[in-house]
Amino acid sequence: MVTQLDEKIAGLQDQVKKLLSQKDSLIKELDTIEEKYESQDRLYRKYFPVIIDMVTTGDTPFAGACKELSIALKKGASSVKIAYIFEQLKTAMIKEGIGPVAVKKKKGMFGSLLKSSTDTFIEEFKQGYHEIVNNLRSTLDAKYTTRMDNIAARILDVGDTKDIADIRDSIFALVFVYISDTSQDREKVNSFVQDIVAKILDIEQKLTTSYDQTSSLFSSNSGFETILSSEMTGLQKTSDVAFSLDDLKVQINQRLASIETALKHKQVKDKAIQAVAEKNRHIFKSGFTKLKQELNEATKYSEELEEKLNQDQLTGAFNRRAYDQKIQDEMDRFLRYGTMFSLLLIDADKFKNINDRYGHAIGDRCLQEIIKRSIPLLRRNDMLARYGGEEFVVVMPETDAVGAKEAAEKIRQTIEKIEFLYKNEKVRVTVSIGVTQVEEGDKTHTQIFERADMAVYKAKENGRNQVSVH
Ligand code: GH3
Ligand code: MG
Ligand code: MG
Repeated sequence: MVTQLDEKIAGLQDQVKKLLSQKDSLIKELDTIEEKYESQDRLYRKYFPVIIDMVTTGDTPFAGACKELSIALKKGASSVKIAYIFEQLKTAMIKEGIGPVAVKKKKGMFGSLLKSSTDTFIEEFKQGYHEIVNNLRSTLDAKYTTRMDNIAARILDVGDTKDIADIRDSIFALVFVYISDTSQDREKVNSFVQDIVAKILDIEQKLTTSYDQTSSLFSSNSGFETILSSEMTGLQKTSDVAFSLDDLKVQINQRLASIETALKHKQVKDKAIQAVAEKNRHIFKSGFTKLKQELNEATKYSEELEEKLNQDQLTGAFNRRAYDQKIQDEMDRFLRYGTMFSLLLIDADKFKNINDRYGHAIGDRCLQEIIKRSIPLLRRNDMLARYGGEEFVVVMPETDAVGAKEAAEKIRQTIEKIEFLYKNEKVRVTVSIGVTQVEEGDKTHTQIFERADMAVYKAKENGRNQVSVH
């Protein structure tokens, strides 16, 4: 008899042990949940003050309570203190007759304090988009401020994924307008656009991670529930427990039942979270693909604009702007590494006469022809640009005056041979070319240009249609 009871007690002790280990698992689970809430809490404490400060205006008790809430959140006040301020807010709202609509709106805002990780997605997106708007603010001119303010305000109001998609479109539209408008260095504009793309990809990454976490939390829960259920079934099948221990058995069963209920609730909630996560993920995956594509197009468009900015309209050659950049680059390289380069200055001879005799249109065609014929004579790294009027420059990297003179001579001879027919009359055009190379002691590229200019002057003096080296 004694032995039988001992066995039963031992059996029950065994079950208690199992329960203890289950308790440990549950505590672990609780830790994870707590951690999740803590990170959410941190997020709210960081962003809520910003939101509150932005929307709070006036000198009413309600505004006062809002400010107090903002300060308390910033200071990391206890939840008791925050709950107290909420009470004050409620009282102020009733006193000030902030109507049901307004109350509902505020409730939605504060209510999200209590919501689960579904809203963490939205919060992360908001945070990401805030960063993007701030980034835009530091780059874009003041004339875009109103648009940015508008977007920033809408980010604060975001309620669902559709709102986020709309905001993304607005940001894109703004970037696009900026790309079209700006007169800034195109390279900088391009790298700015790339930066925005990178940031948006970063947000996408966050979403995916967030989704994965939710998903794994969900699957670990279902595993846990399976184990727990089977343990419980085993426990409940133990029917021959001695009378004196019945109380304990009842208690154990009651506890298990309540654990099961809690878990079931949690499962339902997690399932809902996962469903939303999955929906969000799908919406954003396709949305981001579209956005990436659009931003790529914007970059391409910006590059095309850049090309146009550097191009001379009449001849299609590079323009003065592009020349300035190129010669500065070469000058920098020379000052840093002593890399050689040369410059040609090509000036059409007696070009005024051509215009006077044959008309401006023929003059224009001559200029186009000079460019068309000269380009094939140059190296890939050389840059031929229209300096202005009937003057052209060629920047020749890693070329000394000897090499440059050879190239100049080829150009001169080629142009000399061009014949236009104008009313059965042959139109000819010649050029004078000044050549110079960068010299020890040169500090700025204007010094080099001045030498090339002097060389042209000499060529003109000596009878034109010739190359002169300074
Ligand atoms: P020089 O041999 O001394 O250089 O004589 P030039 O007539 O070429 O020199 P000048 O500087 O006196 O005149 C340059 C002329 O080039 C004046 C202008 O009519 C012509 N020109 C400048 N830009 C253009 C253009 O875009 N199209 C045409 N058709 N002519 C131009
Ligand atoms: Mg001239
Ligand atoms: Mg001329």
